[in-house]
Amino acid sequence: AVEAVTKEHRTVRGLTGLVTQADEREQMTIEEPYTGDPIGAIPLCDAADVDLAVERAREAQQAWAERAPAERAEVLTRFRKLVLDRREKLMDIVQLETGKARRTAFEEIQVVAMTAGYYSHRAEQFLASEKRKGAIPGATETRVHHHPVGVAGLITPWNFPFELALSDALPALLAGNAVVINPAEQTSHVALYGKRLLEEAGLPADLFQVVTGHGPTIGEPLIKAVDYVGFTGSTATGRIVAEQAGKHLKKASLELGGKNPAIVFEDADFDRAIPGLINGAYSNTGQLCISIERIYVHESRYEEFVDRFVAATEDVELGATYDFGPDVGSLVSKEQLEKVVAHVADAKSRGATVHTGGEARPDVGPYFYEPTVLTDVELDMDLCCEETFGPVVAIYPFSDTEEAIAKANDTDYGLNGSVWTEDAEFGREVAQQIRAGTVNVNDAYGPTYASIDAPMGGMKDSGIGRRHGREGILKYTEAQTVAVQKG
Ligand code: ADP
Repeated sequence: AVEAVTKEHRTVRGLTGLVTQADEREQMTIEEPYTGDPIGAIPLCDAADVDLAVERAREAQQAWAERAPAERAEVLTRFRKLVLDRREKLMDIVQLETGKARRTAFEEIQVVAMTAGYYSHRAEQFLASEKRKGAIPGATETRVHHHPVGVAGLITPWNFPFELALSDALPALLAGNAVVINPAEQTSHVALYGKRLLEEAGLPADLFQVVTGHGPTIGEPLIKAVDYVGFTGSTATGRIVAEQAGKHLKKASLELGGKNPAIVFEDADFDRAIPGLINGAYSNTGQLCISIERIYVHESRYEEFVDRFVAATEDVELGATYDFGPDVGSLVSKEQLEKVVAHVADAKSRGATVHTGGEARPDVGPYFYEPTVLTDVELDMDLCCEETFGPVVAIYPFSDTEEAIAKANDTDYGLNGSVWTEDAEFGREVAQQIRAGTVNVNDAYGPTYASIDAPMGGMKDSGIGRRHGREGILKYTEAQTVAVQKG
């Protein structure tokens, strides 16, 4: 069953005319992925706008840094409540700009609320000064203090636009910094709405700035002007950002792409593994840095797995609606659709087998694509090694553990991984041999980043630095050692 969104539907929900601010700057029209219809426009800011935003943020940061962490946390506690109260509006905007399923929009909002709650509770503890041993025992009292870096510049993507803009901004703010965000053009409105909620919660004016416009125009001026750069996006753009951060000698963290593997061992419980990996492969229409794009299955159960996974894929419900129901929504844009189509076409032309899917679905919406399962994918195919970022997964057989680990690691990426076995200790051992920042064993929800309390980020070309947990807030601080000689 598919539901198609209608103009009437949008109007009833007040979802038309998301105009940011009429000003003299050139505007960029934003389209609704479900229909391709224009839904609003954003101003295209330039380097002068960036400088002004950073200057204002820097001024506001002085007073903010003087407040105690517990006082800063109160603002975030109020923000958390506002996010929960305005969840319907937030889901509407997220869906309107991304075309994702409402359930996935809801998950984003939950994560932001959880992040606000987590860091509000823990910030005081994470930011407290720590006692260390002095060089000459007993001669000095040595403490490490965590000072804010100043202004953090965040360049954020369209796939989880509310979560990825806010869940990095919240710890930065709690650590005493100002934040300037350049959201992906397509998802500017949700970042602007986030700003509004933060200010309603009592965040001082100017402390959180959103500069809309093109990344290539805004990126370098932003990197040059701020003290810390946080980037989430593709590995290709991440390299450019890292070069610029290097040139201007700015601290930076980068969360980039993945070609994330799952290994399904002979003893795996398929009743858990299949739904877990269906979610892993198709959640957010596969437009997820931690989504599973490669599944390695022990040869003794390979055919059984392929049959059951294909059947489960055929049950995944597509739909274009602002109501709960469908599992999977649209791809975000024509460019994303074209990339997915090209990957599958290339694999097919070189001999891969498409078991289900493999077609665009213009009957549902202009950028819809069917959940797709392939086998016989070889190393010379783009789909084998490049991130597809769509609802497409390849399944491969393996014969022993060593081979499975070697294949899982045969990638330039290292963000996420998934292991399925009834022997949890064996699973833990295998997980530690996968070069990825997070590995989940028997994660029936999948894909997840494991825990808000545990670091998440990439090894190899998947990035530098970590978000979440203690690591995710201390990266926005400068450690300062003060050693006081005793009497
Ligand atoms: P995708 O290719 O999936 O759209 P990108 O990695 O290009 O993802 O985009 C992620 C973010 O990086 C977006 O906010 C985008 O505007 C921004 N961006 C794109 N190019 C640059 C650049 N040259 N410098 C800084 N930011 C950029």
